[in-house]
Amino acid sequence: MPNLSFVSPTRNSPWGTYLSQIDAVEPYLGHLRRWVETLRRPKRALIVDIPIELDNGTIAHYEGYRVQHSLTRGPGKGGVRYHPDVTLEEVMALSAWMTVKNAAVNLPYGGAKGGIRLDPSALSMKELEKVTRRYTSEIGIIIGPNQDIPAPDVNTNGKIMAWMMDTYSMNTGATATGVVTGKPIELGGSLGRVAATGRGVFVVGREAMRRLNVEMDHARVAVQGFGNVGSIAAKLFAANGAKIVAVQDHTGTIVNHNGFDMTDLLEHVAQTRGVAGFKGGDMIANEDFWDIKSDILIPAALEGQITAERAQRIQTRLVIEGANGPTTPDGEAVLADRGIVVVPDVIANAGGVTVSYFEWVQDFSSFFWTEDEINVRLDKILIGAFKHIWETGEQYKIPLRTAAFTVACTRVLQAREERGLYP
Ligand code: GLU
Repeated sequence: MPNLSFVSPTRNSPWGTYLSQIDAVEPYLGHLRRWVETLRRPKRALIVDIPIELDNGTIAHYEGYRVQHSLTRGPGKGGVRYHPDVTLEEVMALSAWMTVKNAAVNLPYGGAKGGIRLDPSALSMKELEKVTRRYTSEIGIIIGPNQDIPAPDVNTNGKIMAWMMDTYSMNTGATATGVVTGKPIELGGSLGRVAATGRGVFVVGREAMRRLNVEMDHARVAVQGFGNVGSIAAKLFAANGAKIVAVQDHTGTIVNHNGFDMTDLLEHVAQTRGVAGFKGGDMIANEDFWDIKSDILIPAALEGQITAERAQRIQTRLVIEGANGPTTPDGEAVLADRGIVVVPDVIANAGGVTVSYFEWVQDFSSFFWTEDEINVRLDKILIGAFKHIWETGEQYKIPLRTAAFTVACTRVLQAREERGLYP
């Protein structure tokens, strides 16, 4: 473990997971190995205190972070997460995965991530707005359209991006649409951005299925997490002939071995805010989700879900990582032993940041594309990146994650070498 005194990762914690992925890629970096330590250290980490007055008159303090893991290939880019379990260590890992993801699909960005440790469901709209605005002001010293561009992540959305954009613009004295992506369309947002991550999971998943000869028709799909990523991916798989046989979200786990009626399920979730109580399936215990037979398993919730113990039980052919960091190093080793292929997060969920890039480009040029143009360009980038990663995996006989890291880290370290060290 590198000597970073402000975190103490364990092997399967997010930053520990990331570090073991860097260890795995190191032998494939050739002469660029000289620079590999760069990847084990975030460039910059900002911790901010966010005091707000609650509706009941008391003062509450929240801790927020913005970590810029790398600015080597361009400005920082990555989402902002609101969750009670957010820590500096987690945000560091998420920012590092953004560096790798952006380079894996060749976007001209470094990697960054932000977060606030809070439970957004416990706050009123007004309180959420105050937290968001104060956080944006505090990190305002390091973000900007050419410096670091936040976006939505777990529990954040277009509304929060609108407040961030407004706060930054007020502080700088000019409307700066390009400071965040994932904004509402009226404020310079892009068509197709909301669906982009789920769409990317489907597009990359379909490519992986083709390579592995897994038929789409009647393929059984199990999805953990039914937010923006999981629900849209599930909808697209179902629309293309697959069956969604199990879904787990924060309200519980449902199964139907014949496949859910997706229109009914999406309507139920829109009305009740969760899958619990859905009539078109049976509720099971959450832990039993990992025993369900499927062809495709999509973890689209949080990190650290596929542990060694769960990896022993999983009965699937292909894991497509919709979430960031859902598989621990120990879980990954078990899946590899059992011949279960993992399509890693850094390519599987790269659709979101790819359309964020399109949004940023459109904001700069003040010229907006049609949804068709967005989707055609998105598919082309993801399919090309997946092909490159797949072929790299075949060339070195390495798992897809190490192949994706090889492609991405080579790009980052090549740029590092060409820029040289300052001073
Ligand atoms: N939060 C998303 C991710 O993890 C999107 C980031 C972005 O659009 O900048 O990839």
